Amino acid sequence: MTAFEVAKNRNAELGAFLEIFEEGRFPGHDGPLSDMTVAVKDVLALQGARLTCGSKFLENFESLYTATCVQRLIDRGARIVGKTNMDEFAMGSSNENSAYGPVKNPWDVSRVPGGSSGGSAVAATIGACDVALGTDTGGSIRQPAAFCGVVGLKPTYGRISRYGLTAFASSFDTVGTFSRTLEAAARALEAMAGFDPMDSTSANIEVPNYTAALTKEVTSMTIGIPKEYFGEGIEPEVRRHVDDARAKLMKAGCNTVEVSLPHTKYCVADYYILTTAEASSNLARFDGIRYGRRASSGNGSLEDTYRRSRTEGFGREVKRRIMLGTHVLSSGYYDAYYTRAQQVRRLIVQDFTNAFRTCDALLTPTTPTTAFKLGEKVSDPLAMYLNDIFTVSANIAGVPAISVPIGRDADGMPIGAQLITKSFDEATLFALGKEIIAPLPYERLA
Ligand code: GLN
Repeated sequence: MTAFEVAKNRNAELGAFLEIFEEGRFPGHDGPLSDMTVAVKDVLALQGARLTCGSKFLENFESLYTATCVQRLIDRGARIVGKTNMDEFAMGSSNENSAYGPVKNPWDVSRVPGGSSGGSAVAATIGACDVALGTDTGGSIRQPAAFCGVVGLKPTYGRISRYGLTAFASSFDTVGTFSRTLEAAARALEAMAGFDPMDSTSANIEVPNYTAALTKEVTSMTIGIPKEYFGEGIEPEVRRHVDDARAKLMKAGCNTVEVSLPHTKYCVADYYILTTAEASSNLARFDGIRYGRRASSGNGSLEDTYRRSRTEGFGREVKRRIMLGTHVLSSGYYDAYYTRAQQVRRLIVQDFTNAFRTCDALLTPTTPTTAFKLGEKVSDPLAMYLNDIFTVSANIAGVPAISVPIGRDADGMPIGAQLITKSFDEATLFALGKEIIAPLPYERLA
């Protein structure tokens, strides 16, 4: 079966795609990736295709141009399968915030696939593409990758252009990939990475050969085990599998040392102050005038058009974030929340800088638990936010991180380990990832 056929056959059941293209609509040019099929999270622009961001607001919005990352894949031969479902404007950890319905975890359809890139995670898992593009602002690639049992790569902030990515929190947003194999992730990153004049925050730094990193020896590398990431609340099976991954790295010749990232306990709070602040500013562009939905009736005033369009267009979680964000930026609270959170961000960055003085990479669980049940956390935003506890720190610091499948628990649910390195050292993620990856029985999902 082709990727296109898998996508079509499974979509009624799993809801991974918002749109599946006819094969040949986005064919890809001749090039090194002509064997590769790619699914694109519906927060990335593809000229001529709808771009909903999982929101009612953009139900009928069509992209006028193509995101640089997508274009670079097409230019090298990749074929685009479709646009994937996601939490509205990439806000969520379960894909239950999509205006177009939830996505189901293919290992157990009563469970969530994770979010916000849940559709992309599932597309890669079931073989509806070789690579699915996602975005990671606070774990939205790594967490669903861990829940679905695929490789989820969040490169360094600035490694891949954000041109054509609908902004959520601009100083955190990162484009990355889902794939069953590290090889596919390496090839896609090679194609997408590098400076783009259309994104001034994209890094003008040489892009190494990541495929070569996959055969690199890891002997004598030092792996830091951050003690704050192994505290209470971690499922025993998750802990055991991560311990096994550590043992594998030692067997491959690595040393492991315990390290401390002392400001870890502030990460979730810091993340939800700074990202809601940035989101409230970014989402102000959805006013019913410039993009997408415009409320039809009302008293005809500009204010009223704004209010009605936003009331109708945005879902509950997006409204919650806009309210939180405008609150922390309001004049009476700016210093207490926003300024303070920026200062804490600096301390968290410093934690990583210090840790990378003594080690080449950090090893942690990606998530404290395996995939939870649909409906389990939707009515408790705090419980949902706490699921991001191990993933938000890499976005706060801008450093690259990867989630690699390392096994399954007694219920057959996948478990992921996270590796984190210093900025622009994705090559080490690949080199170490190959030592711990445990490919899952994907054929059973067919
Ligand atoms: N779960 C996080 C949030 O809801 C992650 C979002 C993301 O990375 N896009 O903000």
